[in-house]
Amino acid sequence: MYPMKENKTPSPATGQRIALNGGDTFRFRCHPDISCYLACCHKVEIYLFPYDVLRLKNCLGMHSAEFIHTHCRIGEGSHPYFPSLMLNMAEQEDYPCPFLTREGCSVYPDRPSACRTYPLERGVEKCGRRGRLKTHYFLVRHPYCKGHDEEGTYTVKQWERDQKLLEYNLMNDLWAELDAFFATNPWEGEGAAGPRQQLAFMVCYDIDGFRDYASRHHLLDRYRIDRDRRRRIERDDAELLKFGFQWLPAVLGGRNTLTPT
Ligand code: SF4
Ligand code: SF4
Repeated sequence: MYPMKENKTPSPATGQRIALNGGDTFRFRCHPDISCYLACCHKVEIYLFPYDVLRLKNCLGMHSAEFIHTHCRIGEGSHPYFPSLMLNMAEQEDYPCPFLTREGCSVYPDRPSACRTYPLERGVEKCGRRGRLKTHYFLVRHPYCKGHDEEGTYTVKQWERDQKLLEYNLMNDLWAELDAFFATNPWEGEGAAGPRQQLAFMVCYDIDGFRDYASRHHLLDRYRIDRDRRRRIERDDAELLKFGFQWLPAVLGGRNTLTPT
């Protein structure tokens, strides 16, 4: 069991996690004059979700395959049937994040979900027969982080808006749905890194590779997609990723997430 909140502005002990609801308040403030400024951007384990990769590679002007090759390594997933992607720290003293500069985070508007959510952590679970997603937030504290001792309070909802988390949360929830499908082991006995899993990995993480694939195989012609959406998919990586999240359960699991033409 996680410790439950005891008052309206809880502050966790190091290593403790406190469950919070959307309207709950927590104390925290991070600013450039704080003594721990950027301490959290060294030697840190950061999981990258598909939308994180998409935002970062576009921010850096890189092809997604090049971004993965340069900055990522494979990690353990939330279940045995699909791996995760993790951000490599730079091979320098103190292992800084590769995007850290003297001035701070060089990818700040496109920083990963984990960075923008801290000091909160977010998880989702499926509830009920309809599989409605329920969001859980926890307030966490790292030993070096002084932001918990500063004057300043937020509700969870304010923090979501302040950190521009809503778009990330929406895309991460779609990803969580797809990952739940991967947890059913839909690889037809091919095992890890078989052709079907490699296809899924490309759709989720290598969005530029998937754009080439979709074009070569005329994927958009094979399904009923209205003209406006088709235009958005052709121009916008996030829209293509949403299409990919629907296409994989259809093509790998025969699910009716898309309607064939
Ligand atoms: S207050 Fe916490 S989040 Fe902000 S710079 Fe310090 S360690 Fe990082
Ligand atoms: S992406 Fe930015 S905020 Fe996140 S660890 Fe790297 S430098 Fe820090």
